[in-house]
Amino acid sequence: MTTTQDHRWRSQARCRGTGIGAFFSRTGETTTEKEAREAQAKKLCEDCPVTRECALAAILHGDVGIAGGMNDDERALYRRRLLRSGDLVAGPGRRIAPGPGTRRLLCEHCRRRGKYAGRGPEGLRLITTCWTRWVKAGRPTAVPDPVYKPRRTAA
Ligand code: SF4
Ligand SMILES: [Zn+2]
Repeated sequence: MTTTQDHRWRSQARCRGTGIGAFFSRTGETTTEKEAREAQAKKLCEDCPVTRECALAAILHGDVGIAGGMNDDERALYRRRLLRSGDLVAGPGRRIAPGPGTRRLLCEHCRRRGKYAGRGPEGLRLITTCWTRWVKAGRPTAVPDPVYKPRRTAA
């Protein structure tokens, strides 16, 4: 699978440095055990600022276990949704890649060009910096402005 993905988000992963046991199924575990284990892992994902990146990377790499707050089945559904919306596209050999509109994007908040990260308030398509700032602020109804002034392109 693609190796050109930006993995800087991993430094913000809530599960970083924790035992990863809860994220993966154990041989012979019962349904009850599975549910308890998954709930424990998902608790970490709940306030993780990089769930979307994590889920997307897991989909692109075909990872198993809890990632992006979802188990394998839930992520399969999410994957189908992204394929329907065009955020992911299936290429030759059913290889999954980010959709053409999702790679470089003129951020609908700051109008800077960058990597598409996700939809913010009112469905705004945001680049990574704005999306991360918005998520860190607790997903308010407006994207908080960056500390620096967005550069204006001369008309
Ligand atoms: S979403 Fe969950 S699995 Fe992914 S980085 Fe965050 S805490 Fe870890
Ligand atoms: Zn922006």
